[in-house]
Amino acid sequence: MVAGIRDEAAAISGDIAELRHSIHAEPEIGLDLPKTQEKVLQALDGLPLEIRRGQALTSVTAVLRGARPGKTVLLRADMDALPVTERTGLPYACRQPGAMHACGHDLHTAMLAGAARLLAARQAELAGNVIFMFQPGEEGSGGARIMIDEGVLDAAGERPVAAYALHVGSSLLPLGLVASRAGTALAAADTLHVTVRGRGGHGSQPHLAADPIPVACEIVTALQTMVTRRFNVFDPVVLTVGSFHAGTTDNVIPDDAAFVATVRTFSAQSRDLVKNAALQLVRQIAAAHELESEAEFVDGYPVTVNDEREFGFAESTVRDLLGEDKFLAAPFPLTGSEDFSYVLEQVPGSFLMIGACPPDADPITAPYNHSAEAVFDDAVIADGTALYAELALRRLAAG
Ligand SMILES: [Zn+2]
Ligand SMILES: [Zn+2]
Repeated sequence: MVAGIRDEAAAISGDIAELRHSIHAEPEIGLDLPKTQEKVLQALDGLPLEIRRGQALTSVTAVLRGARPGKTVLLRADMDALPVTERTGLPYACRQPGAMHACGHDLHTAMLAGAARLLAARQAELAGNVIFMFQPGEEGSGGARIMIDEGVLDAAGERPVAAYALHVGSSLLPLGLVASRAGTALAAADTLHVTVRGRGGHGSQPHLAADPIPVACEIVTALQTMVTRRFNVFDPVVLTVGSFHAGTTDNVIPDDAAFVATVRTFSAQSRDLVKNAALQLVRQIAAAHELESEAEFVDGYPVTVNDEREFGFAESTVRDLLGEDKFLAAPFPLTGSEDFSYVLEQVPGSFLMIGACPPDADPITAPYNHSAEAVFDDAVIADGTALYAELALRRLAAG
């Protein structure tokens, strides 16, 4: 059966590549992806699926009911692009500026549509259900959260026993190598906004003003000290101030200084602690200088946690399906974040990276995901499609 699904995936990989190129050439950003949704619906047309479109977003939820009773498994692909102007020079590159499938979600979408075709052909032997989750708005809009609110996890009438997502990489991993890890796989990413409110004045007479700039600078360095002193080195925190703004010229003390930081954590405990500790630190340093401050965290995605058992299941599936040497147990989590985390908060499962670096490029130096020059090779399609399908087949067979 294993060789079968790979051969079948290879046989339809031309069609999947065609769908991928069509999605790639017309990238759409955010939660509203009408053209992409239409392409997915067309690709699924005629298959024995129960299909539902989203209300608040252009998602597609498709349910395949096997002829025999059994459990339910969920497979997820994200569909959205990024506000990047493409510079790959590929024949199917997007010609319009301002949008690009720079994270490879076009591949996920096309491969999952291909997997739906392969699995639908096995409906008669399938024991249980498969939910295909085609999701807009991964890149910051929290589309997965909205699909959960709209019932994707209950689409088959019962909760899935397992959920899997694939993500391609244009760099880091060589073509076809799958990587993941048990437990924490990706960071939580939140944003800290800080404004220090002083009182403007002449640069030559700081004692008559209340200068917010040195206070804001002190807070920035104190935040780094907090990261090294308050947190377990084995449960790290990344805090990067990526934007800092104050003033207009050399001899005017401004009223305010403001900065924004991304804050990455790898456990719910550290995520809670960093919020409390950072807000307290901002408030008290500003107060020590008799200035007012405003600070708030805007929540991004939570930590992506792979279930130990489902990770192990996915690892053995990859090794059996693609080859013993095609799986890498990643030593560290990635510092990126993913809204598949919302699914994994409710359903045990695993997030898997698969290398799509062009075979003639060096994975170490190849343009990374989100780069205007990122290239994801079509050669990943057959294995990625077969892996989606095989994860569902095996997991349902395991009961
Ligand atoms: Zn991305
Ligand atoms: Zn992505």
